[in-house]
Amino acid sequence: MSHHNPGVDVIVIGAGMAGLVCAERLRRRGYDVLLAEARDQVGGRTAGIEVDGETVDLGGQFIGPGQDRIYALAAELGVAIFPTHTAGANVLETETGRVRRFRGMAPKLGPLTLLDVARAQSRLGRLARTVDAETPWCGPNAAALDGQTLQSWIDRTVKTQGGRRFLVCACRAIWACEPSELSLLHALFYIKAAGSLAAVTDVEGGAQQDRLDGGAYGVATRLAERLGAAIRLNAPVQRIEQNDSGVVVTVKDGTTWHARHVVVAVPPPLAARIAFHPPLPAARDNLLQRLPMGNVIKYVVGYPAPFWRQAGLSGAALSLRGPIALTVDSSPRSGRRGVLIAFVNGTPARDLATRSPEDRRTTLLDSLGRLFGPQAATPVSFVERNWNEEAFTRGAYSALFPPGAWTQLGSTWRAPVGRIHWAGAETSPRWYGYIDGAVRSGEAAADAVARAELH
Ligand SMILES: Cc1cc2nc3c(=O)[nH]c(=O)nc-3n(C[C@H](O)[C@H](O)[C@H](O)COP(=O)(O)OP(=O)(O)OC[C@H]3O[C@@H](n4cnc5c(N)ncnc54)[C@H](O)[C@@H]3O)c2cc1C
Repeated sequence: MSHHNPGVDVIVIGAGMAGLVCAERLRRRGYDVLLAEARDQVGGRTAGIEVDGETVDLGGQFIGPGQDRIYALAAELGVAIFPTHTAGANVLETETGRVRRFRGMAPKLGPLTLLDVARAQSRLGRLARTVDAETPWCGPNAAALDGQTLQSWIDRTVKTQGGRRFLVCACRAIWACEPSELSLLHALFYIKAAGSLAAVTDVEGGAQQDRLDGGAYGVATRLAERLGAAIRLNAPVQRIEQNDSGVVVTVKDGTTWHARHVVVAVPPPLAARIAFHPPLPAARDNLLQRLPMGNVIKYVVGYPAPFWRQAGLSGAALSLRGPIALTVDSSPRSGRRGVLIAFVNGTPARDLATRSPEDRRTTLLDSLGRLFGPQAATPVSFVERNWNEEAFTRGAYSALFPPGAWTQLGSTWRAPVGRIHWAGAETSPRWYGYIDGAVRSGEAAADAVARAELH
């Protein structure tokens, strides 16, 4: 059955951080807004659930210096910030399963390998500085950088086998994909959008430095409280029609809403599944066809206490053996319970997903046991979120530009199409793919709509 509703000024599609911020900013400017969300909860990639009375983040959770907009939003909403636990030694598991402790950001890899990796990192940093994050397709070397994958660059630049293997694992940890899937230009753009490679990789001084009390999901739910009845849950948008006077948005159950403008704040693969009438310009549609998400399974594993701290460990681990790419101590601020989060990313995520739930659990706990000792294999809670299986996300952490996409189609990246505006972490030239990027994109889209309303 189809329902026709009276019009609003603006419809925002997707109640992730970008859509929530956009809708709230528009509402504050006096616009009548409707926020359509496909799921039965807000937050999108900052999803959360209650485990033992504490909210745990199943998606994005860390923030760091330079991410000014999420810090400002947290302050405005009264959400406290606290540092990620870092005291103690980090752990590296080698490919052969040897577990070594290390301090700081340089794992024990052997001097030649370490030098090789350090040289590659500094080259990446230098190359990233040549990219303009507002228009990455425009630089003098853009075509050459975009004509190769990160893997082909690693093969050419990194001399030692150990160095190459380490960088493959680093790529999985950072982008949740294999380096062969990623345009070198996209990797450089992403680094530039974050400020530097250290900003991407580091905990202290980098994007993993801080956490939000009550989780990133808590920020989303507080924003949602402000928006109240403007949010429509269980409302997957399937069609957007625009003409000279406005837009008509149709939801799966046939309900239609009218507005003057629409902001699409969903991940690119989900935007590609919406039927647009008239169809999107060919180049814009072509770009949406080319932006797959990374592959992430996140595990949130609870213990009666953060026992690794007593053993002098920080809870941070990298594994070259896998399937875990990395772990981080994600215990609640109170330290009352211990929580480790573990990420299985890229090809190992695709492989692990083919196994039974019991097999996946055993594999994960074996892996944690090797990294942190037998206690790690006997948790009190175990939560798995496979982001690739999520119908309204279809992967994480963010969409990835393969070779050619930036230079052939980049000019359609953020440009509005008539009354259709784009938001989301994938539309931000600052902190692309991060929570902060999502916040910035929501603010920018609200400002763009307000400007369009003046004409
Ligand atoms: C496991 C994981 C770990 C991460 N770690 C970090 C981190 O530590 N720090 C960090 O900064 N970032 C991190 N990220 C990335 C960060 O979470 C995202 O970049 C950010 O939350 C994206 O917000 P968004 O609003 O752009 O998109 P989303 O959060 O994806 O929101 C889009 C919304 O649109 C809805 N939707 C989709 N299709 C439709 C439709 N047709 N109709 C209506 N609604 C629809 C979805 O349900 C969703 O709610 C992580 C992400 C994941 C998954």
